[in-house]
Amino acid sequence: MSGTGIIPTSFPENGRKYLNAQDFQNGFDPVAEGHEMIRLITELYPICRSITGDGLRETLRRLQRHIPLELREVPTGTQVFDWTVPKEWNIRDAYVKNAKNERVIDFQKSNLHVVNYSVPVQRRMALAELKEHLFTLPAHPDWIPYRTSYYKESWGFCLPQKQLAGLQDEEYEVCIDSTLENGHLTYGEYFLQGETREEVLISCHACHPSLCNDNLSGIALAISLALRLQSVSRRYSYRFLFIPGTIGAITWLAKNEDKIANIKQGLVLTGVGDAGALHYKKSRKGTADIDRAAAHVLKHSGQSHEILEFSPYGYDERQYCSPGINLSVGRLSRTPHGTFPEYHTSADNLEFVHADKLGEALAVTLEILAVLENNGTFVNLNSKCEPQLGRRGLYRMVGGTADAGISEMAMLWVLNLSDGKNSLLDIAERSGLRFEAIRQAAEALEEHKLLRREWKSVPQAAR
Ligand SMILES: [Zn+2]
Repeated sequence: MSGTGIIPTSFPENGRKYLNAQDFQNGFDPVAEGHEMIRLITELYPICRSITGDGLRETLRRLQRHIPLELREVPTGTQVFDWTVPKEWNIRDAYVKNAKNERVIDFQKSNLHVVNYSVPVQRRMALAELKEHLFTLPAHPDWIPYRTSYYKESWGFCLPQKQLAGLQDEEYEVCIDSTLENGHLTYGEYFLQGETREEVLISCHACHPSLCNDNLSGIALAISLALRLQSVSRRYSYRFLFIPGTIGAITWLAKNEDKIANIKQGLVLTGVGDAGALHYKKSRKGTADIDRAAAHVLKHSGQSHEILEFSPYGYDERQYCSPGINLSVGRLSRTPHGTFPEYHTSADNLEFVHADKLGEALAVTLEILAVLENNGTFVNLNSKCEPQLGRRGLYRMVGGTADAGISEMAMLWVLNLSDGKNSLLDIAERSGLRFEAIRQAAEALEEHKLLRREWKSVPQAAR
């Protein structure tokens, strides 16, 4: 027995514990984890991704070095609910050359210079005509904007306002060496089997070119999460999707309607590496376990944070929470998209994301999942007055340290509210204590036969 009053226990019936905060936090170094994520972000940063094409494929293949991701290919023209899988876009090179044959705009320097999904062009034209196809950010004259034209065939270049101001009135050679042809939409899927067929969905978009917080931070967090979850016992199965935004989520949902009922909880991960506070956006339901678990963990995290109500605008939670799908899927981000000037510009670069922020996001996400993994209902087997905890070695042995009282208070709450109706998360919320303290108390009480678990993990064939 330790002098701290924290009682080491394990589940005697199977000797197995699900992902829990006590275990994963043991030796957990958020900054080191964040540096791993930065390494992956740095590797993927130069690739010209889009909603289809070889940049997306190359990104997913590199992720296969970390987890056994399966690549799926859906042909152009496939009907997916109200949408159609578009033509596949690929690009090799693009530039604008001046009369001296100098590349004044060069895709090789930044893939953001070309409007994503630009049709091929090979022409000479005057500055006036060229200008109709140029996009800048006058408020941030050094930044390149990020523009796309997925569903309207057009072309264009993006450049810093300062660079535009320097263009002479002369004839330019314009080249976009791209193809827009029948092909496939590619996405990556990784299914991690748990003890039950009930699933937690982890989804991130992988369709943005050289942008770090918007897309790469979510990808890196999902990979770190998958690696952690692989190594622990899991009650839930986990399905990871690395998909092009909007069309990828719609495509997956349209082609996997038979799997939707198994998805009990989920998170969209994006924009988790900037310096801002964590923001959790609730699912459409608003009171799903994922919503409550996220709010609980953030409240006890000691970090500034915000809980956002659901709205039908944002990332792929829009599709997962559409009324005919209505999954319990929330979104974890830091500063919400569109509310920081670097959003969708070249300033969302490697300097904009931080190892400590990424590591913190991983810790919070793991703790949210640990709540889901361990939440359940117990019944107090000694409900007429309090059981005598001291006789069982469950009460403070020698005069208390400060944290000795925490687990005792947690035990009193668990015993009092375990009437088969209140889950551990209900008890954590009502007591104001951290879920992990409640879980540890329940574990100790169960081991001493003062509680009976009312929930079971029945292994079932999944998929
Ligand atoms: Zn975006």
